Amino acid sequence: ALDAAFFVRWMTAAATVIDREATRLTELDSAIGDADHGTNMQRGFAAVVKTVAEGEPPATPGAVLVAAGRQLISSVGGASGPLYGTLLRRAGKALGEAAEVSPEELRAALDAGVAAVGQLGGSAPGDKTMLDALVPGVAALTTSFDAAAEAAGEGASATVPMQARKGRASYLGARSIGHQDPGATSSALLFAALAEVAK
Ligand code: ADP
Ligand code: MG
Ligand code: MG
Repeated sequence: ALDAAFFVRWMTAAATVIDREATRLTELDSAIGDADHGTNMQRGFAAVVKTVAEGEPPATPGAVLVAAGRQLISSVGGASGPLYGTLLRRAGKALGEAAEVSPEELRAALDAGVAAVGQLGGSAPGDKTMLDALVPGVAALTTSFDAAAEAAGEGASATVPMQARKGRASYLGARSIGHQDPGATSSALLFAALAEVAK
């Protein structure tokens, strides 16, 4: 079973991998956006770690994710802040007040979170957004954390030939084709961090 400490480790590992890949995320966003995705995510996850890992940690898995989501919404100005914030907050609410949750409960909670992202963003898989990594990643959680990380990474790669229909990249029309979506790339990193802490 997964307890609050596991979720704190996940958020901490996510911040570390985002720090490591921030330059790449910003480079991807400079090709089809405004060159801030790496710094947006770094700022957001640094704030998340401050909230959940320093000082009194939230007592339940749900509380960790709700606190993380709130922090992303308040500290990230870009589109990705409210979207990732909604993902984690909605997933945290779905987990309720249980002290420990099963991998299946986590999968179901993230599924609800991903649905909330699509609703907020008016987006769906195929639009060349974070959903193109989140949706296959969550689906593969039925198999394992490793399978989810792999599926999310493949989902991010699959955004390269897509034309963006949502977000800043959509302003480029056909010129968005041939570049990997920054948000799908950071979503794959969140699954990579999850697989890492689950080992
Ligand atoms: P901004 O575009 O405001 O500068 P970021 O650069 O931090 O914000 O995040 C951009 C990412 O947000 C995109 O690569 C995409 O994955 C995601 N995104 C943007 N709009 C949407 C949307 N409507 N639905 C889902 N994801 C979106
Ligand atoms: Mg941007
Ligand atoms: Mg921006």
